[in-house]
Amino acid sequence: MEQNPFTHTLEYNLDLGKTKPDTVHRHEKYCPFCDVKNLKNVLETRGHMIWLENAFPVLKDCWQTLIIETDDCDGEFSEYDPAYAVEMIRFGLEKWHQVQAMDRFRSVVFYRNHGYMSGGTIHHPHSQIVGLEKYDYHDDVKLYHLQGHPVLQSPGIEVNLSARPIIGFYEVNLILSDDAQLPLFVHYMQIVSHFMIHDFVWHNESYNIFFYTFPDDPKLYVKIVPRFLTNPLYVGYMIPQTANEGHRNRFIERLQKALAAASNQPERK
Ligand SMILES: [Zn+2]
Repeated sequence: MEQNPFTHTLEYNLDLGKTKPDTVHRHEKYCPFCDVKNLKNVLETRGHMIWLENAFPVLKDCWQTLIIETDDCDGEFSEYDPAYAVEMIRFGLEKWHQVQAMDRFRSVVFYRNHGYMSGGTIHHPHSQIVGLEKYDYHDDVKLYHLQGHPVLQSPGIEVNLSARPIIGFYEVNLILSDDAQLPLFVHYMQIVSHFMIHDFVWHNESYNIFFYTFPDDPKLYVKIVPRFLTNPLYVGYMIPQTANEGHRNRFIERLQKALAAASNQPERK
């Protein structure tokens, strides 16, 4: 099928992008997200969480907003107090749905970056919510990208390892079908994120979290992806690779152990 390049690409303003502050790769000391009193275009504040427009709207035909998650510049999602993590994800989901409901966008993406290889430029923990005026991610991301080998099944929650990943290797998907289970779901997200940076198959300090919804499907889909150099078969031919069965089974077993240890802890709210 022929594709219209203008609905399958996003134009990034590199001239503006190169003026962006970067506390991840350039060791700059000044953090714009710690300097709360000088933040502009704040949309909403809830405790230490701040939803605002991105000061560097580098993407064409998009409305770029972000959520500053905490006042702790060195905070990390996988290490947040579990109750705080739930509060933060709840706030993010609420704002994501709010932007979707504006009906101005073909689709709205919600994601977060962590680490040098994740594509983020500000170290201070934050999430992005971006309305895309011309791009519907459902044209390219399909439900089968979020399905795979079972890792864990509990009431209202499924965790799996992509059998048909988007970019390749280990992509862990979490699927929530009962909103009442959100606290446990978020805790599983924390465990998987922690696993990606501490127990992954090789040294790794970067990961992304992506959120998805699909039309006529009430479930919440989350994909957590460790980040490292992209394999050339993907770059050149769009071939995602997967791990061999033995390696995959060991990965699943270790992740199951980590998740089981979390589930055995006292009830979290
Ligand atoms: Zn900061």
